[in-house]
Amino acid sequence: MVHTPLGVGILGFGGLGQAMARMLRAKQEMRWIAVADKQGYAYRPAGLELDACQAAYAQGSVGHLEPVGVMSTQSIADLVAQAPEVEGYFLALPNLPNTFMAEVARQFIASGWRGVLVDALKRTSAVEQLLGLQDDLRQAGITYLTGCGATPGLLTAAAALAAQSYEEVLAVTITFGVGIANWEAYRATIREDIAHLPGYSVERAMGLSDAEVEALLDQTGGLLKLEHMEHADDILLELAGVCPRDRVTVGGVVDTRNPKKPLSTHVKLTGRTFEGRVSTHIFTLGDETSMAANVCGPALGYLKAGRRLWCQGHCGLLTSADVMPQFVR
Ligand code: NAD
Repeated sequence: MVHTPLGVGILGFGGLGQAMARMLRAKQEMRWIAVADKQGYAYRPAGLELDACQAAYAQGSVGHLEPVGVMSTQSIADLVAQAPEVEGYFLALPNLPNTFMAEVARQFIASGWRGVLVDALKRTSAVEQLLGLQDDLRQAGITYLTGCGATPGLLTAAAALAAQSYEEVLAVTITFGVGIANWEAYRATIREDIAHLPGYSVERAMGLSDAEVEALLDQTGGLLKLEHMEHADDILLELAGVCPRDRVTVGGVVDTRNPKKPLSTHVKLTGRTFEGRVSTHIFTLGDETSMAANVCGPALGYLKAGRRLWCQGHCGLLTSADVMPQFVR
């Protein structure tokens, strides 16, 4: 039996959106056919070319792509209305303000489109907003998988798996190291990380000009050291029944001037077995793997898993701790 590749759309064409498009080039089971950024969108059912889209984006927007690009100030709504062959979207959008992703979900619910949505959302309070849309998503025929990047995402799923050895999970500690050559390739990621620094908020980080971000990074030698972050791994593990959220801690170091990771990303899960022994499982990511590989790979795996659930009629909100991602060929 010949299967047609799944039609995939990417919303947001910054660091992660472009990395996802690059990853999709090697996949037979999926085809990248739609993209939107803040100023425009492009849709081509036969498949989009990464180089051409990047060239258009360098001029300001994928909307400049000839002949299929369209400039628009409501690019997501317009694309969703114009692109019936998209069966699943990866949301590589900034969650700035902190209500943005829930707003996008509401747009999808209102649009009448049915299919799979996957995000790499980070904040606990942002996931809580999506929980409020659970019933609306189900009724709209949308299978929405949230928190499906690296953390939350790959590491949350690893914690949910590691928990199986234990009768009680006592502590989950996630520590990430990210190295990127320059912050401008991942503006939203860095602004959202700055929002976790003492004295900052999402609003304040969102309001920073690029020059102000540069000045802050100059003061820290390009490093962002983050502790006790409001990270949705906690609520995702709580919802999955692994442990109460106050047993989950997340922190890390981001080097914005060096692609080498400042430390190895890992998750440590301590628990007590049914025999009463306390032990710790540790899952460490390879240092050579980039943030993009560890976010986009799992997100794509969750898109495939979400598609299978959708085909079985399972709609609503699910998380990276509920479902095992499926490897995409
Ligand atoms: P970026 O700043 O590089 O790109 C954002 C893109 O979104 C741009 O193309 C921009 O044009 C587009 N955009 C902005 N507003 C839009 C709108 N209203 N309509 C359509 N498009 C719009 O972002 P990034 O650094 O790639 O990060 C994307 C998201 O991924 C962030 O929210 C970040 O926190 C998240 N992230 C998650 C993880 C994880 O492990 N879970 C890791 C890294 C990043």
